Amino acid sequence: MKIAVFPGSFDPITIGHVDLVTRALPLFDQIIVAVGLNTTKKYLFSLEQRLAWLRQVFAGYPNVRVDYFENLTAHYCQRIGARYLLRGLRNGSDFDYEKTISQLNHIVGGGIETVFFIAQPELSHISSTIVREIIVGGGNAALFIPKEIKIPTEFKRL
Ligand code: ADP
Repeated sequence: MKIAVFPGSFDPITIGHVDLVTRALPLFDQIIVAVGLNTTKKYLFSLEQRLAWLRQVFAGYPNVRVDYFENLTAHYCQRIGARYLLRGLRNGSDFDYEKTISQLNHIVGGGIETVFFIAQPELSHISSTIVREIIVGGGNAALFIPKEIKIPTEFKRL
């Protein structure tokens, strides 16, 4: 069984993430969208909220599972028997960052391969970071997030 892990913070999930998963589905038997917990990172949304949104968004996809993990992505992959990682490339800075991580995961994870998808041109400006800025700044992020996601009102005006 070909399993790919799509790791990320998903703080919150965007239509860019969904696009990546749907494009990768024909390549794998199962895709596990996994929230990686980094103790040093500050998140806008709780783990429970991010997982609930991911579950809602991928509810209609039988080959997609939602999970979370602590510590190294490569060790999580080994634990669940996934030999592939899924990541997206929007621009050169994504590439520089992802190249090193992918090489490390290949070594640490005993041959795990990262499969990269180039962002669609109409989605390549979308990131969780800009979505968070729009939400915190009181703007409307609806154009960038899946329709299932309703941002709590307390985030609309700070
Ligand atoms: P991280 O916290 O690791 O940056 P993110 O949740 O921000 O995780 O992103 C997870 C993955 O999704 C990354 O590989 C990123 O490149 C990819 N990604 C995010 N937005 C897009 C997009 N608009 N198009 C394609 N890939 C994207």
